[in-house]
Amino acid sequence: KKMHWQAAKKVINTIEQAGFEAFIVGGAVRDYYLKKENNDVDIATSALPEEIQAIFHHTIDVGIAHGTVLVLDFGEPIEVTTYRTESGYSDHRRPDTVHFVRNLKEDLKRRDFTMNAMALSKSGDYIDYYNGRQHIDNKVICAVGEPLQRFEEDALRMLRAIRFASQLQFSIEYQTLQAIHQKASTISYISIERIQVELSKIFTSKHAQMGIEYIENTSLSNYLPGKFNTHSWTGFYSEDRQVGWAYFCLVNESDLSLLSAYRCSNKDKLFTKSILGAYESLLNGMPPIDLLRYDLSMLKTACQFAEWQNKVLPFSFDDLADRKSTLPIQHINELAISGRDLMEWSSKKRGAWIKQTLDTAILAVLNGEANNDKQQLKEWFHAFHDEG
Ligand code: ATP
Ligand code: MG
Repeated sequence: KKMHWQAAKKVINTIEQAGFEAFIVGGAVRDYYLKKENNDVDIATSALPEEIQAIFHHTIDVGIAHGTVLVLDFGEPIEVTTYRTESGYSDHRRPDTVHFVRNLKEDLKRRDFTMNAMALSKSGDYIDYYNGRQHIDNKVICAVGEPLQRFEEDALRMLRAIRFASQLQFSIEYQTLQAIHQKASTISYISIERIQVELSKIFTSKHAQMGIEYIENTSLSNYLPGKFNTHSWTGFYSEDRQVGWAYFCLVNESDLSLLSAYRCSNKDKLFTKSILGAYESLLNGMPPIDLLRYDLSMLKTACQFAEWQNKVLPFSFDDLADRKSTLPIQHINELAISGRDLMEWSSKKRGAWIKQTLDTAILAVLNGEANNDKQQLKEWFHAFHDEG
């Protein structure tokens, strides 16, 4: 996993040999200071994109207009971006124009937070004009420059501040926080997809509740779909973004339309439906047929939901797992008969009766009325069928 750092150093050497400057910048420097792993090693350079393309053998132009070239010479792809300043921001989300500059300080100045505005030389020296290390030591997130202006330029930065706070368990510096409060309504300039990405990172962070609390207290919540109720998130923790989104729906009266509002995928929607179904079954004592329907990880998550919602259950997850393991079948598709068998035995046409009968057969197996055996189920079927 150190490969990216080695490749980055080689890239820097090569650029320096060609007579330009290059430094590691952004999240990798922050995480290096925090002693956290980060393989997303970005490089900033005084060389222009076309100069970078001339220096290296294998490059991909991933955004020349913004100054970014991907260098592939050393195995790992390394992003190399020309020092730049940005101006304009008339849409509150991206600069109208970018200007390439030859000075690192100018480049660092455009970055969002002091901890993200540091650079690291290849020999390990920090370039830290905005006291990023001191702010990291004090566990505060602090805008670079005038916070109000920085959020006016790009409203997404408000959510990024909150996201970093919950990931790192840092607080947001007072002036920066006041500025978020003041500019909260401008979050509506930002596309909902980008908001979804930041919320996913908040949901999966170590201290998700802290993020929810910031969203509520800065009143950003007034401009985002759904309720952000800090109290509902006490104890919540998951590394799985789908679990986060499902829980967000649950604490919003199981409002599944929120997933559409945030443009989540159909896969996310299916997951949420399933987990909310499992949770509801759990509150109903989890009947055997439902035990079959959900796998252990779903049952586990549903139990966690109950815990986070302060619902006291008369059984634990381990009890459920034990109950599940003693069932005669572990999944509905393990039933020894199929719809085809039913049609053969009854010479009736395909129809809704097939699914109903199979469900009843599963219940019969679960209740011990029949073994999960084709011959026995055939007898059971005829007895059942001849009655009906
Ligand atoms: P992560 O580890 O989550 O990727 P990161 O700090 O690397 O965090 P990126 O979105 O990858 O975040 O951005 C890389 C760097 O670009 C940031 O560290 C910051 O210096 C700068 N940056 C990113 N987004 C913005 C923004 N909206 N405004 C100003 N600077 C930004
Ligand atoms: Mg990054």
